[in-house]
Amino acid sequence: MRIALIAHDKKKKELLEFVQLNHDVFEKHDLYATGTTGGIIKEHTGLKVSCKKSGPLGGDQEIGSMVANGKIDMIFFFRDPLTAQPHEPDVSALLRLSDVYQTPIATNVEAAKLFLKALRK
Ligand code: PGA
Repeated sequence: MRIALIAHDKKKKELLEFVQLNHDVFEKHDLYATGTTGGIIKEHTGLKVSCKKSGPLGGDQEIGSMVANGKIDMIFFFRDPLTAQPHEPDVSALLRLSDVYQTPIATNVEAAKLFLKALRK
């Protein structure tokens, strides 16, 4: 599967820990990420991640473009609901496209755990 990984700043640690915990699963898939998230995951896990631009600089839109072109199968997007994001329109656009193209998207760790169960099957 082609999996996108994105986390807002206050959620990056949580996503990193989640990926580390499930390294054996993620290593079997093609990983894409926004710039900063992907850099952190690559550095701390050794996983191969194709990095786009940083989210606020267009990375969310790049992932959205992949979704629109049928190049992403699943998204892990750990959002921070308590902090205003300068690129909120891009975030909303990605969520919208995930619905338009019926791409599963986990926006918090509990949803992500359920997705992982599906990936392990
Ligand atoms: P980042 O982007 O991985 O470059 O921080 C994520 C986001 O905030 O959309």
